[in-house]
Amino acid sequence: MKVCINKTDCIGCQFCTDIVPDVFGIEEGVAFPKSEIRNHNDNAVQEAIEGCPVGAISITEKSEAA
Ligand code: SF4
Repeated sequence: MKVCINKTDCIGCQFCTDIVPDVFGIEEGVAFPKSEIRNHNDNAVQEAIEGCPVGAISITEKSEAA
């Protein structure tokens, strides 16, 4: 699965990077996806998605893109 971040909406609060630093990074004040999601990270990533104050994070199923 891939993480998508709406860079226009992101306010760079670093909430997601604090929770899942392996998956989210901050560059020039805006979050970016560092890696794809592995299953064991799903709960933490879900927490980041739900906790993002501007709802900028979403997930796409890689298999659907084929
Ligand atoms: S939690 Fe949301 S607003 Fe905050 S840095 Fe992450 S994507 Fe940006």
